[in-house]
Formats: sequence, structure tokens, C-alpha cells
Amino acid sequence: MWRLALVLLLGGCAVSVDAKDGAAQKVLLIHSFGRDFAPFHLVASHFRSELGKLCPGTVEFVDASLEMARFDGVEKDEPLLTFLAAVFGEKPPDLLVPIGAPAAMFCHRNRDRLFSKVPILAVGLDKRRSVPLVEMPGVVEAMTDIELDGLMENILLVMPETKHVYVTMGTAPLEQFWAMELKRAWERYEGRVEMHFLDGLSLAQMKSVVASPPKDSVVFHGIMNRDGAGVTHEAEEALVELVAVAKAPSFGYSEGQLGLGIIGGRLLPLRESAQRAATAAVRLLDGEDPAAIQLEAVPLSAPVYDWRELRRWGIAESALPAGSTVHHRVPTLWQAHRGWVVGAGVVAGLQTGLIVMLLTARRRARESDAAFSLAAESVGLGVWQRDMVTDEIKASDQWRVLFGLNPSERLTLGRVLERVPVEEREGLQRAIEMGNRQGQRYLVEHQVVLEDGTTRWIASMGRAEKGKGSGVMKTRGVSMDITERKRMEAELGQQRNQFAHLARVASLGELTGSLAHELNQPLGAILSNAQTGLHLLNRPVADLAELREILGDIVEADKRAGEVIVRVRSLLQAGEAERAAVNVEACVEEVGRLMRTDLHERGVELRTAFARDLPAVRGDLVQLQQVMINLLMNACEAMVEREVGERVVLVTAVAEKDEVRVAIEDSGIGLPEDVEQLFRAFYTTKKTGLGIGLGICRTIMQSHGGRLWATRKETGSGAVFHLSLPAVRPLTA
Ligand code: ADP
Repeated sequence: MWRLALVLLLGGCAVSVDAKDGAAQKVLLIHSFGRDFAPFHLVASHFRSELGKLCPGTVEFVDASLEMARFDGVEKDEPLLTFLAAVFGEKPPDLLVPIGAPAAMFCHRNRDRLFSKVPILAVGLDKRRSVPLVEMPGVVEAMTDIELDGLMENILLVMPETKHVYVTMGTAPLEQFWAMELKRAWERYEGRVEMHFLDGLSLAQMKSVVASPPKDSVVFHGIMNRDGAGVTHEAEEALVELVAVAKAPSFGYSEGQLGLGIIGGRLLPLRESAQRAATAAVRLLDGEDPAAIQLEAVPLSAPVYDWRELRRWGIAESALPAGSTVHHRVPTLWQAHRGWVVGAGVVAGLQTGLIVMLLTARRRARESDAAFSLAAESVGLGVWQRDMVTDEIKASDQWRVLFGLNPSERLTLGRVLERVPVEEREGLQRAIEMGNRQGQRYLVEHQVVLEDGTTRWIASMGRAEKGKGSGVMKTRGVSMDITERKRMEAELGQQRNQFAHLARVASLGELTGSLAHELNQPLGAILSNAQTGLHLLNRPVADLAELREILGDIVEADKRAGEVIVRVRSLLQAGEAERAAVNVEACVEEVGRLMRTDLHERGVELRTAFARDLPAVRGDLVQLQQVMINLLMNACEAMVEREVGERVVLVTAVAEKDEVRVAIEDSGIGLPEDVEQLFRAFYTTKKTGLGIGLGICRTIMQSHGGRLWATRKETGSGAVFHLSLPAVRPLTA
């Protein structure tokens, strides 16, 4: 009963039903730049407190941040999506609230992976930045409508003498969007005032411009989270620094800037738009159909001014538009409490100084991880930043864990490199230095040995940031553990080897038939040589010279048979075939020598012709010889029908482009029209043939990066078999 009364009092937040069950409804806030960037940080905090007031205790907020939106439009959605999926698991949030246009666009891009059934309430985006999100079902947009003309009209009303307007703006995509919009909208004031857009300058450069502007200048402070030097500035700290040095009155666009040094005017109503959004959130959480909720864009606020700034620049309150409210009014207590006032002035001065100092210190302290923080850490990325002047490395805890370094110890590149195995250090250091010199992103992969001796693989991406001069002032980046990936790569490599081995064993199964073929040749040679030797010995006077030659041939043929067996054995073992530079001419000649008896007995004449300076090829000598023997044997068999004097095999070799081409041409029966069928397994026209020799030869050639094909002879009958192999340069000496 109590709760009901309270709920009614607060404007009917029916979500309390859930709270009764003890489960608060979850609202996921997706920040565009990080939680602390203007103006969205205020939109978010107002929204949070407004919704908290409407639904006390029944809503739980979860924050996620896009971070990357302030960089060069790089859409790094993946880490955040992974993070969100991990955080919410099976139980999605009850409402998705992107804060600002970049976050809204993120939701639009990833709607189907981002809890597609959960309603979206896009907050803190302007009418001009309306993204196609609104066309999607389940989406409500709580927008604002910044009248850019109104901003300029206000300046000219309050400071009618204005001749120059200096506009400070950032360079993030969103900031550039607004710079363009302002340029366009304010074109019509050309002639009356001169515009100076300072986007692209660093904060320091902007400070020096506004510190000495020409007479009748004003400064307009736009959105600036990242300056032209790529440095990020949280909240309104850039504004505070600029106002502190500016020698011209300051104007701004957002309620969040009032009180920090701008004069005022009609401003972006952060609180009001957050209030409206919170009311819509209540309705959505209550289960109301998003299509039924239409919100009007909230216009700029009624005019509001800072009394202190009006005084400072001598602006009379009578010059302000009707309906203006003046804030920060300090009564003139000078006469009555002079001492107090002086003290207060000092305190105020100190306070301002202190605020500037605190903001700066805070920025510095957070710089290293502000850039990447949430999304990075959530997916196991460690964040680091190295000062190139002091060589000091600041790193997130996660990063120190990756490298097995103490949370408190002072880090330098040298200290970190101690963790890297000695043999990788030099290469790593060189890669880092090169990346820094070129000022580009670089990626390095290396190992790290932890205290307990375990090794892990790390991938680091870094980027150098230039300082004022041409030198690199600092580098920053992320690191991640890729040990698992490396392990899988190694495993895959091993599997690939095993597959290759299996393939070899399988083809050896096929090879057994033709192995007989291969071994028959040297064995036959041995036999006939031995028989000839015996005949010679039976003679009364043995011709020792001839006997020596015969025995020499036997030894050669035996070696050959032995090599075939060795090669087959090595083929059966896992591992790559031997690869060495092979001299084609010598290879063919050796084959000719090995087959001499065979060729002689068959009445076949072997002719050879080699181009001069033939480059070597890379390959396994024995395998290439096996291919040639096979082709020569086939040629011999194809010429059986020919007269003895017509049985000629011509082997030629030429270099062509990057290849060496060998052609084996016979004068046999020739080939059928479909020459490809010869290479199919079990195609044979021989009584005792197996029909696998050519297939195996082709496989061997392919494993050498070469080819094997056949053509019919252009004139006369016969076949030509062509081999091509990649040449090894330089030419064989
Ligand atoms: P096999 O010699 O056991 O038959 P191959 O695969 O080596 O197996 O050859 C397949 C077929 O290709 C042979 O049976 C033959 O018909 C044909 N062939 C191969 N080389 C020649 C050639 N030089 N001339 C004519 N036909 C050939």
C-alpha cells in the first residue's frame, strides 16, 4: 500500500512490480565517448538521477562505453558487443539507452546483435544528428533541437560590436559534424562578422590564439573532447583552460558550460531533455509500446546568463533579452565586508586555480586508460602508454598481469624487454622503433616468460603520437594474450603435416605397382650386366677393362635401386621431401646412364638438347628422376611397333620466363585426342599396365610447384610429354 502511494506520488512508475519480486529492472547506458565527456556526461547523469527519482530502488544502471567514437571514425564495435553479450548472458537488459549520436549509431549498426527485442531510448542526440535508428521498431528518440542561428543572434545581441568569432571545436567525427553545421548555418553572417574556426588546432595552439585576439572578438566554445593534436579532454576541462587565458568574452552552446566562464544565452537544455527522456524510459520499462511514444525535440532553453561574466565584460542586464535569468549573482558586499570580499576573491581565485589543476591532474592520471578503458579491459586487453622523453611506461593492471609485472614497480621499455626471450628482444625492439619512427600503427607478436617459467604469447598494437616538434612524444596502445591462438596455429600446422603424410602414404599405396616398374629397371640392368660379366669370365682371357666397366655399371644400378628404396622409405616417413637445387641437364643425363642397357636392349636412341645457361630447379632429385624414368619407359613401350632405327626419344630443356621446361618426345603410336584421360587413375592400354604411373608423376610435379601435361606431336606420329618446374635464380654458375 505504501509503495503504491509513493509510486503514484512520483508520477506512476509501474516498474515497482518487478521490484516486489526483488529484481530491479536493468537499464543499459551506452556512452558515446566514455562516461566523462561533455555534453553527454551531464545528459547521462541527469537522466540517471531523474529516472532514479521516478523509480526509486527499482532500476539498476549498467554503463558501457563506445570510447572509440572520439577517434577517427574507427568502428570498433566488436569488443563492446562481446563485452555486452558476456555481461548480460541469457538475461538481456530491460532498456537500452544510447547517450549521444555515436552510441545511437552503434545501436543502429548492431541492432540484431544487441538484444533485438529490448526497446531502445536514444537520448542526447540532436534533430540534425537523427540517425536511421528511429525508423527501426522498438526505438524512441528523445532529441534536442539546437537552433544554430539562435546561438549567433545571442552573441550579436549581447556584444553588438563583435567583429570576430573564434570557434573552438574538436576533431572527433561528431565534433567535425558540428563544425560543418556551424560553418553552414553561420555563413549568412559573413560580412558582418569574421569567423575563425580553430578546429584542427591543439588545445595549446587554441589557447595562444584566444589569448591575444584582435579587438571586438568573442570566443564560441563548441564541443571539444579531442583536440587537433589528438589529445582527449574530459568534461569541460578544455573550456576551463581556454577561458582562463582568453582575452575575449566566451560563449557556449550547452547548459553544462554555464558557470565555467561563458557569458550565457539560450543553451542546450541538458536537464530538461534528460527529464523528458526519463519519463519516456518509465513508460518503456512499464511495457508500453515504443511506437506509441512520440517525443518532441526539446528546443534551446530560455536565456540564462552568468552574472560574474556579465560584470567582467561590462554587459548591462538591460541589454539581455526579455525573460532572461541571471545565475551566480554575487551581492555587492564590497563596502560592508571588504576584508571578507578580498579573502573570498582570493579563495575564489585559488578555487578556480585548484579546479583547473585538479581537472588537469585528473586528466593526466587517467590519460593512460581513459582512451581504451572499459571495452579494452573487458575483452582482456591491457592498455599502456610510454613517455618517449622519460621512457616511463604507464600501464593498466591487466597489462601488468599479461607481462607478469608488479602492480607498483616503475616500468621502462628495458624492464619490459627483460620479460621477452633473449632471441626475440632485438627484433621486437627494432619493430617498435620502426613503428615509432614512421608514426603509424604497428603490430608486434612476441613471447613473454613469466617468473614461474611459463611462456605466453602477446600481441601488442601501438601508435606514436607526435609532440609539438617533429619528434614522437609518446606512444600508446593495447596488448593481448594470444597464447591460445598460437597453440591452435601450431596444432593446425601439425595436423596439416599429418594430412600431407597420409596423402603420401595413400599415393604410395598406388605407387607399389609402379615401384616394381622402378626397381625392375636397375635390377634388370644388374642381371644383364652380371650375365655379360659371367660370359666374359668364361672366356680364356678375360677382358679386364670390359669387366671393370660392367662391374661399374652393376654398382651404379645397385646404387640406383638402393636410392629408390631409400626414397620410398623416406616418403613413408612424415616430413617434407628433400628440396635442393637440381641441375636439369645432369639429372636427364644420369637417367640416360641408368637406363642405358634398357634403352640399348629395346633399340631406342636417346637424344638430348639443352639450352645454354639453363637455370637450376628446386626439387627432390630422386623423385624427378623417377618421373623421367617413367616417361622414358612409356616412350619406349609406345615405340615397340616401330622399326629399330625409328625408335628415337628426344629430350629437350629450355628456360622460359621463370620456369625450366623439359619435353620428352617419342616417335611411338601417339596419343588419343583426349590426352587428359591418360592421367586418370587406372587408364592403361597395356596388358600388364596399372595405369597409375602418369597420375603419380603429375602429383610429384605438382608437389614441386610444377606441371606435367601431354600433347600430340604436330608432325608424324608420337607423343610429347612436357614438364615445367620453377627455376631457381640466379642461373647456375
Ligand atoms: P601404364 O604405363 O601402367 O599403362 P601410365 O599411367 O604410365 O600407366 O600410362 C597410361 C597410359 O597412357 C598408357 O597405358 C598408354 O596408353 C598411354 N601412354 C603413356 N605414355 C605414352 C606414350 N609416350 N605414347 C603413347 N601412349 C602413352
